[in-house]
Amino acid sequence: MTEAQKNVNPSEIEKFSSMASQWWDPEGDFKTLHQINPLRLRLIDNTVSLKGKKVLDVGCGGGILSESMAVKGAQVMGVDLGKELLDVADLHCLDTGVSVNYQHISVEDLAAKQPESFDTVTCMEMLEHVPDPGSIIKACNELVKPGGYVFLSTLNRNPKSYLLSIVGAEYLLGLLPKGTHDYASFIKPSELAAWCREVDLELVDSRGIEYNLLSQSFSMTQDVSVNYICVFKKPLGSN
Ligand code: SAH
Repeated sequence: MTEAQKNVNPSEIEKFSSMASQWWDPEGDFKTLHQINPLRLRLIDNTVSLKGKKVLDVGCGGGILSESMAVKGAQVMGVDLGKELLDVADLHCLDTGVSVNYQHISVEDLAAKQPESFDTVTCMEMLEHVPDPGSIIKACNELVKPGGYVFLSTLNRNPKSYLLSIVGAEYLLGLLPKGTHDYASFIKPSELAAWCREVDLELVDSRGIEYNLLSQSFSMTQDVSVNYICVFKKPLGSN
């Protein structure tokens, strides 16, 4: 992929990079990622048994998910286009002694270099920040081995998700910094599924992540109307 063809929105990378120092503060700008991480980690580990698995975390940011998967015994590579974010991720590993291989490379370029080299690929809360999510999904499929799993999470696009994830989370509750999300970039499950079907990824599971105002905590549900995670499998014998 040449510079001109890069599937990246530089202002999105700039936005996340400007908050890099906050990444590991459980009460900071990325509080929500810290809160949902145990839920998504459990889903991934229950599905693939992370111990000993080669895992790629696409759009890893400061490494909240990457590091937690490494703690479970996976051999993790994390890629992102925000250099400052990867520096934060590396520094955090120095602190904790956890080993993660962070690389500043686009997922499309990585797919060209080392196809079918991961047992599991995760791409969480990232697709709604790129110009062409289908290209990211295609690369994720190229990177996973046949029989392996791809986990994708994003925000659904409907009036309820607009109200909860932008009006509610950013403006009323302050769960996310204002301007984190752009409604037009949200992705319906049917759109996600269509991109995955194009590359023959099979949907095996989908879950919603719901915020409970009373307990001020998140839980997994079957309701994918706002934030959701889909689990896909690359069939054996496909390429
Ligand atoms: N996946 C992490 C971080 C989500 S925040 C988590 O869920 O904990 C979104 C991340 O996507 C940011 O780190 C941002 O830098 C990254 N990102 C945005 N566009 C990207 C692109 N084209 N390639 C790689 N990473 C990208």
